[in-house]
Amino acid sequence: MSKPELKFTVLPGDGIGPEVMTSALEVLHVLAARAGLTLNYSTHPVGGAAIDDCGVALPDSTRDACAAADAILFGSVGGPKWEHLPPAEQPERAALLPLRKHFQLFANIRPGLLYRELVDASPLKTERIPDGIDMVCIRELTGGIYFGQPKTTRTLEGGDVEAIDTMVYKRSEIERIAEVAAQTALARNGKVCSVDKANVLTTSVLWRKTVTEFFAQKYPQLKLSHMYVDNAAMQLARDPNQFDVLFTENMFGDILSDEMAIVCGSLGMLCSASLGTGRNTHGLPFGLYEPAGGTAPDIAGKGIANPCAQILSAALMLRYSFGLDSLAATIESAVREAVGDGYRTGDIAFGGQTVNTAQMTKAIIERL
Ligand code: NAD
Repeated sequence: MSKPELKFTVLPGDGIGPEVMTSALEVLHVLAARAGLTLNYSTHPVGGAAIDDCGVALPDSTRDACAAADAILFGSVGGPKWEHLPPAEQPERAALLPLRKHFQLFANIRPGLLYRELVDASPLKTERIPDGIDMVCIRELTGGIYFGQPKTTRTLEGGDVEAIDTMVYKRSEIERIAEVAAQTALARNGKVCSVDKANVLTTSVLWRKTVTEFFAQKYPQLKLSHMYVDNAAMQLARDPNQFDVLFTENMFGDILSDEMAIVCGSLGMLCSASLGTGRNTHGLPFGLYEPAGGTAPDIAGKGIANPCAQILSAALMLRYSFGLDSLAATIESAVREAVGDGYRTGDIAFGGQTVNTAQMTKAIIERL
């Protein structure tokens, strides 16, 4: 009998993307061999690398390869070399946004995890987070004010200029992100906080009503709370651990998830999953998995990037798109142990001794 197969597309991208992707693939290879799984993946250009190779940031061949797979393992795209291009042709905008749109990646899941050993990486006072941080931020990714129509600028009679963005949410869009939040909470501590601005915005009134009814009907066992977004921004900086699963609409999530990332310290440790409406051949969500950080041009090519975020993104891929929760947990424990045992790339060393990307990867593999 052939071994169970994990079919995914690898898009390393630019800058440190290919460096940390090598680490993630090494980890996956070791784990797959041990678990009796076959890795079936192909690597394709995206972002600046694709502009250089094929003239566009997202070649059709790359998109087709993604469509034929069960998941996408993504590095990061962009860098100074392509900054002169018009905004619509820039790597991030011309590669990542079309991928999100094409695959209807509506749910962005970003774990906010800061190990106790790394509390110094957080700008928060250590006494506020003595045991680190452990929460998850879930952002609706395909609706709201970033996509609503009309979106226009016009000159009014008399010469003044007016710009319009439109914030739209459908009940069905709110319910499907609420479902992701509920499933995440079920796998954690059963606590969910929905963030909105229902005291001002009509879309938020529908958001809060829909979320309240959805949880009452489908998940009465979960502890649901609501918070206004301005308060949530303050509470994240005051006491992030009061949240377990925080979920919110697109623009609020854009801002709060970045606030959470800085509160959690180094970008080199933070991973994310963007789940689509589609189901893959395993009947699980098709998803795109990527580090929270970018291409880090300041350290690219030096072999010193922190590979943890990319490796942890691969763990999320195993969990969400392949249903391999225990293998995902194996990776997460190995990363935690390596950091706990004192292995630190420059971004998390705080002036202490550092290891390079390859050494960090080796330390993680030894602890799998
Ligand atoms: P960045 O995240 O690339 O870097 C910010 C800082 O964090 C840098 O000092 C960098 O060295 C550090 N850093 C990030 N990841 C690290 C890692 N794994 N290990 C060690 N240090 C790490 O953000 P930026 O400098 O604002 O952007 C650089 C480029 O990346 C830009 O072109 C931007 O458009 C692009 N970008 C891409 C994505 C993406 O592909 N999803 C996301 C963010 C930024």
